[in-house]
Amino acid sequence: MVCIYCGSETKVGNSRWQKRNNQVWRRRQCKKCKAVFTTHEAVDLSSTLLVQVNGSPRPFVSDILFTEILLAMQDRKDCYLAAREATATIVSKLLKLPGKPLFSTTQISLISADVLKKLDKRAYLRFTAEHPSLQR
Ligand SMILES: [Zn+2]
Repeated sequence: MVCIYCGSETKVGNSRWQKRNNQVWRRRQCKKCKAVFTTHEAVDLSSTLLVQVNGSPRPFVSDILFTEILLAMQDRKDCYLAAREATATIVSKLLKLPGKPLFSTTQISLISADVLKKLDKRAYLRFTAEHPSLQR
């Protein structure tokens, strides 16, 4: 990876595996301008999970799920971190299901609601209110 400021070659100064989100954190330094920045290596789920939308499979975009979870958790002070962790939990549950790699949006919403129910009752209620298919 090149420097984000000057485009020169960089070296990795420090690297750590983060268990909670299964990402690799790296501190990089530019060999030329000496600027320091951080990168995260994560799995690209768009090639691993698919969502059935209007009858055709589309790549799963975890940012969309994250945005929905963030909206549900918006009242929390730690909403970004909590939503990121909840999204990671939902994704790991999807990856363990026998239906993978293809899911319907309703299946994803159901798993999301289950995870939120255990983590945050208020977020769960807000999430189900936004997803009419979950109201039984
Ligand atoms: Zn540089």
